[in-house]
Amino acid sequence: MSKNPKKEVIQSPKGMHDLLPDDFKIYEKVIEKSKEIAEFYGFLPIATPHLEHTELFLRPLGETSDVVEKEMYTLRTKGGDSLVLRPEGTAPIIRSYAENGMVSWPHPIKLYYYGSFFRHENPQKGRLREFRQFGIEVLGDTDPIIDAIIIKIPYIVLSELGFKNVIVHINSLGDKNCRPVFKKELLNFYKKKFNYLCKDCKRRFKESPFRLLDCKEESCIEIKSNAPQMIDYLCDECKEHFKSVLEFLDEGKIPYSLDNYLVRGFDYYGKTVFEIFSKGESSNAALCGGGRYDDLMAFLGGKPLPSAGCALGVDRVIHEMKKNNLTQIKEKNPDVFLIQIGPAAKKRSFVLIEELRNAGVFVSESLSKDNFRAQLKIASKIGCRIALIIGQKEAMDGTVIVKDMLEETQDMVTQEKLVEKIKSILKSASRGGKTKR
Ligand code: AMP
Repeated sequence: MSKNPKKEVIQSPKGMHDLLPDDFKIYEKVIEKSKEIAEFYGFLPIATPHLEHTELFLRPLGETSDVVEKEMYTLRTKGGDSLVLRPEGTAPIIRSYAENGMVSWPHPIKLYYYGSFFRHENPQKGRLREFRQFGIEVLGDTDPIIDAIIIKIPYIVLSELGFKNVIVHINSLGDKNCRPVFKKELLNFYKKKFNYLCKDCKRRFKESPFRLLDCKEESCIEIKSNAPQMIDYLCDECKEHFKSVLEFLDEGKIPYSLDNYLVRGFDYYGKTVFEIFSKGESSNAALCGGGRYDDLMAFLGGKPLPSAGCALGVDRVIHEMKKNNLTQIKEKNPDVFLIQIGPAAKKRSFVLIEELRNAGVFVSESLSKDNFRAQLKIASKIGCRIALIIGQKEAMDGTVIVKDMLEETQDMVTQEKLVEKIKSILKSASRGGKTKR
């Protein structure tokens, strides 16, 4: 027995929340729009498990990355395996590529996915521990137009969902030829500032110097403003690639701003990296992030597979849509409401409703209610054109009263003639007859 006489209501785990019906509808709207655009551009759906082997994420994300160091939900199976709740979607797709022989599929392979991801972050505005993403990946293509398509798709999704002033922050991280030169310069610069760095950055200096550029501490941000920039160290190939991506964005009139200090949280990125924001957005957190990851397959021990991808943060998108009144969802109301009075009518309605569904009639009901007036009130509130009424008598002789709620007329019809009657009333309404709403 609990020592606490006042039983507390069990709450969802910190940083994880329910999607209640209203939010779920917005979630579906975001996913449907993302699917529509991704499928138009030839992307195919894929789903991977929520649990993966821990080592899948260690090298690709970086053993010293925040996600690997402190944010993974890791568990031991009874058999002794170490599994992790997936913190992101790209490494699992690369794993699936290798495991399922996608190497023999025609390239590039374009895939999209959506679902929940898990990071044990400090819950704060815009940061959840279970969050939802819609991601796209193009596997097996070096062409800079691929980077531009990966940027264009979330840009269109956000614009068509009604976001204003969508802007892409973009940078190039170079490749394994030019990045080491930049790393050396960066270390030279930060060596002189070492004593002024925050505790985390002192560690980053030794373990992952690029993340020094990602620190959110005021004092480190100030130091960063004089730090060397990758763009000045790009090799000819990376420079040409980056220039070409920007030209495609110009051509597509996709607004962007060069962000010379943009680095992303995972080690697998190289060349293009980007984040998408909507100006004026309350939390100023990125709605989408991604880039090119030509070396990810090599991190996992495979042959190089030049690829690019991104993920839209669906929870943040939902939050901003609600805040900015972008959530109007057109819902079709049912045309017909079925009212039943008495036990025999209730039994008959239980079957009739399925027959109407099979005949393509959009019918609603309140079968657990017994009171006639209460049911009529619901029909009228929903704005149904037709109310079907079955009482004790109708239940016995197999008839139904069809009430035209607009014309305020009613007829008794046999069950055989019912669908025909409903359709003729609805047809007259769609021909421009009076409508209820
Ligand atoms: P990432 O997987 O870190 O590249 O993030 C891609 C996008 O997912 C971000 O731009 C966010 O919109 C969203 N996102 C990442 N982490 C979280 C989180 N902890 N909570 C909510 N959204 C997130």
